[in-house]
Amino acid sequence: MDSLANLKQTILKDYPRLSEQDGFAFECGAHLECFNVCCADVNIFLTPYDVLRMRKAVGLGSGEFLARYTLVPFDKSQHLPTPLLKMSETEGKACYFVDAFKGCTIYSHRPWPCRMYPLGSASPGETEKDADRLFYFMMREEFCQGHGCPHIWTVAEWLEDQGVAKYAEFGEMFKGITLHPAFSKGYQLSPQQIEMYWIALFDLDKFRGFIFSSSFLKRFEIPADFIELLRIDDEALLKFGFSWTALALFGDKTLNVRPEAVKMQPQFNNKKSSRV
Ligand code: SF4
Ligand code: SF4
Repeated sequence: MDSLANLKQTILKDYPRLSEQDGFAFECGAHLECFNVCCADVNIFLTPYDVLRMRKAVGLGSGEFLARYTLVPFDKSQHLPTPLLKMSETEGKACYFVDAFKGCTIYSHRPWPCRMYPLGSASPGETEKDADRLFYFMMREEFCQGHGCPHIWTVAEWLEDQGVAKYAEFGEMFKGITLHPAFSKGYQLSPQQIEMYWIALFDLDKFRGFIFSSSFLKRFEIPADFIELLRIDDEALLKFGFSWTALALFGDKTLNVRPEAVKMQPQFNNKKSSRV
C-alpha cells in the first residue's frame, strides 16, 4: 500500500479535479457483473463519524467494534492514527459487511468512502493557492463496470443521493484536528495526547464512561441540559469530543474552562489522577 502521503501526492498531481457542478456517467447495482467486487481487498480509512454509525448498525460498543473490525496502521507521515476497516482473511478478502446477494448489509450506515465511491475528495496542498478549497476526483478501477453507464450525475447530485452531508460536516471537524496548522510548524504530540484523541473521537463509550465517572465536566462551563444530552446522544458527545480534543491537543479555546478549575491532565486508564 502506498503511504497516505504518496497517495495524496499522486491525487494532487495526476487526477483531474472536479467541482460540484461537473458531470459524470455512472451507475451501480446488482445487475452489473462487478456487483460487490469493490467491497473486497480495499483500504477504507474510517473517520470518527463512520465508526459511530457503523458500530450502531451492528449493535456493538465502540471498543468492541474497533477491536473486531479495524486495524490501526500508523504511517510515519501521519501525526495521528486512523482506523482502517479490516477485511476478512478468507480468499478474496471480502469486507465483513458484504453479502453476496444483498450487497452491503449496513448500507444506510456505510462509511464515507463507500458513499463517495467512485468519487474521492481532497484539498490542494499547502503550497497551492486556495489550499482549503475542496475538490473531487474520479477513481477509475478496471473492475468497475459502472463508468460510462447512461445515467448522468453532477457531483452535487451524487453527494445528495448518497447522503454525504452529515459525513462531510463531521469530516470537516475531523480535518480540523488531523490537519491542524500546528502540525505544519513541527508540533509533536505526546503518547498521552494521542490516547486522548483516540478515546474522545473513536472510543466514545469509553469517553462517556470517563467524563461521567470523574469530575471532568466540572472543569468546563457547560449548560446542564447539554450535559444530559451527552449521556444519551452520541453525535453530541462526538462534537464535544472534537472541541475537547482541540483544547487538549493544541490549546485552542474551544471550551470555556471554569476559572476555578485547576489545570490537570486527564488520564483514561484506571489510575487515579489529580482532578478538581
Ligand atoms: S464495482 Fe463499481 S459498479 Fe460494480 S458494484 Fe462496485 S461501485 Fe458498483
Ligand atoms: S462497508 Fe459496505 S459498502 Fe463499504 S466495503 Fe463494506 S460492504 Fe462494501
